[in-house]
Amino acid sequence: MSFSLKIIDWFTKNKRSLPWRNSKNPYKIWLSEIILQQTKVAQGLPFYNKFICNYPTVAHLAKATENEVLKLWQGLGYYSRARNLHYTAKEIVKKYNGVFPKDYNTILKLKGVGTYTASAICSFAYNLPFAVVDGNVIRLLSRYFGIATAFDSSDGKKEFQLLAQKLLIKDSAAENNQAIMEFGALQCTPKSPNCNICPMQNSCFAFNNHLVNELPKKSKKLKIRKRYFEFLIINENKKLAIQKRKNGIWKGLYQFPLIENTNETTENTIIQSKDWKNLFNNKATNIMKISSTIKHQLTHQTIYARFWHISTKPILLKNTDYIRKEDIKKYPIPKLLEKYLEKIGMI
Ligand code: SF4
Repeated sequence: MSFSLKIIDWFTKNKRSLPWRNSKNPYKIWLSEIILQQTKVAQGLPFYNKFICNYPTVAHLAKATENEVLKLWQGLGYYSRARNLHYTAKEIVKKYNGVFPKDYNTILKLKGVGTYTASAICSFAYNLPFAVVDGNVIRLLSRYFGIATAFDSSDGKKEFQLLAQKLLIKDSAAENNQAIMEFGALQCTPKSPNCNICPMQNSCFAFNNHLVNELPKKSKKLKIRKRYFEFLIINENKKLAIQKRKNGIWKGLYQFPLIENTNETTENTIIQSKDWKNLFNNKATNIMKISSTIKHQLTHQTIYARFWHISTKPILLKNTDYIRKEDIKKYPIPKLLEKYLEKIGMI
């Protein structure tokens, strides 16, 4: 039996029942693929269900406001995915009359869609012969065929893509692609795969050469950036000051006015800083409480955050909305803020 037939055979016996699997609807497939980028199925599933329930079609999603989409996405992280999803939904309605494109190159041009997602949509929805290559596929191919080329190098990317394309059974592209991804996700797992019950074991290079833990190989080391956030929960005349982020990972989300430092800084230094003076313009402030430091880990950065509870006379900050305390839950906010506000019973 060929490599792909063995994988498909395993898939028919072991696949999970997932809502987007029973559908050929390109909107549902696109939505699930965007949600599942950088996200595990168990974490993404409730978000997929929420989105389908609120926006059953691409036209419904296009009609939503960006705030509504970000609010529904809140907690899933990588918010550019949500912004692109919304932008693309509007584009599909405007440019393609609400009908999802059927051709690979057109799909690839949609914002937020790369080669992996375009291949997934084309193969799952239309059974077109485009091989998907995600982390699960790379891991399996690297171990089974003994490929030690770094998968994040340009040579590695080409090598894995070519091999996956060569292995694809063209008229079963939908099933073949889902099978290989599922095999990587459930059987050939990153840590401690259960090789003893693996149907590929006899011909698996890594297993037979004791290299399972060595493959796949990566070239770049992830650089983690440290950031120090001082969030100022400013209460002006019983109104809370919030600002919409204009850039960065949380673009489009709301937060409290922020002073950011690249190093750990004492409270006194912050109060004496230019940022503080610019914000409060020498007006009297009453610092009621400063939280302890909260560590928030993201893929590429570690955030150390403190929350300052401050009351002050009106200072009317620029680019700031003043809202009632209880209305904060209506706004899309980063998970870090949500967790803190839940902890202190504010939401
Ligand atoms: S034998 Fe182990 S390493 Fe090889 S394909 Fe199976 S699970 Fe992966």
